[in-house]
Parts: sequence; C-alpha cells; structure tokens
Amino acid sequence: MRQVWGGIEGGGTKFNCLLGTGPDAILAERTLPTTSPGETLGAVARFFEEHVGSESGQGLAGLGIACFGPIDLNPRSPTYGSVTTTPKPGWSGAEVVGFFRGRFGVPIGWDTDVNGAALGELRWGAGRGLDSLVYITVGTGIGGGAIVGGRPLHGLLHPEMGHIPVTPAIQAAGPGVCPYHGGWCLEGVASGPALARRAGRPAPTIPADDPIWEDEARALGFAAATIALTLSPERIIFGGGVLKQEQLYPRIRHHCLAALNGYLRVPAITDHIDTYIAAPGLGDRAGALGALALGIDAARP
Ligand code: ADP
Ligand code: ZN
Repeated sequence: MRQVWGGIEGGGTKFNCLLGTGPDAILAERTLPTTSPGETLGAVARFFEEHVGSESGQGLAGLGIACFGPIDLNPRSPTYGSVTTTPKPGWSGAEVVGFFRGRFGVPIGWDTDVNGAALGELRWGAGRGLDSLVYITVGTGIGGGAIVGGRPLHGLLHPEMGHIPVTPAIQAAGPGVCPYHGGWCLEGVASGPALARRAGRPAPTIPADDPIWEDEARALGFAAATIALTLSPERIIFGGGVLKQEQLYPRIRHHCLAALNGYLRVPAITDHIDTYIAAPGLGDRAGALGALALGIDAARP
C-alpha cells in the first residue's frame, strides 16, 4: 500500500486539508469551514477516511496539524494537543490531537499555524537550504512562527510575535483592535481588521496609493528589525491576506533597513534585503504543506 501523509491547517475561519507526500504530489485537497470543534474535526476526519484504506490503495502514515491558537504544545501537559484560551466560541479547551489520535492511530505532528508555515517554507518554499527562518502572517490576526536549527521553536509556550509592542509613533495611528493591547501591539495596529477600522472600509478595498500602506509597511518593517535583532533568522517571510498588497514588500524592506540603521553588517541583510524579507514560495498553501511536513516529521523514527 502506498504511504501518504495528511496535513491540516486549522484556521479561525477555515480548515485546509491535504493528502500527499509533498508540494508536487498532492493527491487530494479540501477546505472546510470552521464551525464547532465536533463538526469541523469530524468533517476533516471524513475527508481523510474517503481517501485512505484498502479500497484506495493508500495507507495513512502520519498526520500533521498546524493550528490557530494559543495551543498547548507541552508534551508533558495534561492538555497537550488542545487549543487553550482562544476567544473563538466553542474552541477554548478543544482537544484536537486527541480527536485524531482516537480516529486514526498514527503519529501526529502538532504545532502552531505559523510554525507549520515556517517549516513548510523551509522545506519546500522560500527557505529551502536554510536552517533558520521566521514566517509572519498578516491577516485577521498577526502571528509569527520560527524555525531554529531546522526545528520549530518552542519555549515556555510558543512565540507570539503578533503581540509585540510597537513604537509610540506607530501607536499614534489610533486605538487599535487587539482585545488585550488595543493599539499598542502589532496585531492591534497592522492586522486586516486594524486597517479596516482606520480606513473605514474593508482592507482589500483600500487603494494601493493610500498613505495607510506606508504606515502599515513601517509597522511591519520595524517588526522585521525586531525579529532580526532578537532571533537572528536567515530569512523573514511575510504572508497572509494583507500581503496580497504586493507594494508593501519593498516598503517593509526599506523600513526594516531604516530601523536597523546599518547595525547588522551582514551581506544577507545589507546587500540582499530583497531575499532577506520575502514572500511565501508556497503561496496560500504554506500552512497546509507545513502541516504535511509536521506529519512527515512526526512519523520519522
Ligand atoms: P486569516 O487570517 O483569517 O486566516 P487571511 O490571511 O486571508 O485569513 O487574512 C484575512 C485578512 O486579510 C482580512 O482582514 C482581509 O480583509 C485581509 N485581506 C485579504 N485580502 C486582502 C487584500 N487584497 N488587501 C488587503 N487586505 C486583504
Ligand atoms: Zn495584542
């Protein structure tokens, strides 16, 4: 029987699932709406059940789940594998790993959505050949995942780069939307909903030449500088819905360099900022393919 892996990118609005062995060998794919945990996880499980088994000639070797959070990643914790304190109705305390373990009995990789996307980009996307990488998504929220020494970075909990404080000049943009930090953190001022609140219209409809994008690029460029100075990754990838505004990339690079002001004298930054701050190589599939990579790694002896 042919061995295949499953990847699940769990988001607050949708779950992206795929089955395969890598980006060039995706055998099936499905997007499901995020409703209640029971309904959504059940639908995900049925997707895999439809495609594996003796009839299809495909055996499931492992599953990877890259999930919105915060999530419990501590293997010694009694609530390992669950979503912890999300404001998303019904999902606080939802057992995700336990659900799939009970259903499939295969090794399961489990990490944050952005650690997953970072791993996917490192293995198959814009981070190939590197050992370290940060992936930032700028969407409904802002999150950052990190790979260090080829592995997703965990610590006391997991990185929460979306909530790093921003400078007073950036805070001046307005009250912000973070339920914890208002306009004092990156997500509060630079997420899609923050842009919509400031502009008074949905972020995708803000014209490309609106000055709001310069403020957005400054906030994200300063965040990139903060990350370059703290984690020292070999590359920083920006993805998520807001980065569909491609005019942001050169401006983010500009503001990152301005914030660093020549301090990090390394050619990867001073001469190659165009590749140091990059778009996802896997596009919108970074998360689901990253989850697949987590599944493949979990199944390794
Ligand atoms: P999510 O974060 O919900 O998983 P996305 O990464 O697609 O999903 O982000 C959705 C956010 O991105 C929304 O706030 C939306 O308004 C914003 N967005 C989507 N497309 C664009 C666009 N073309 N320009 C600016 N913002 C966009
Ligand atoms: Zn915050």
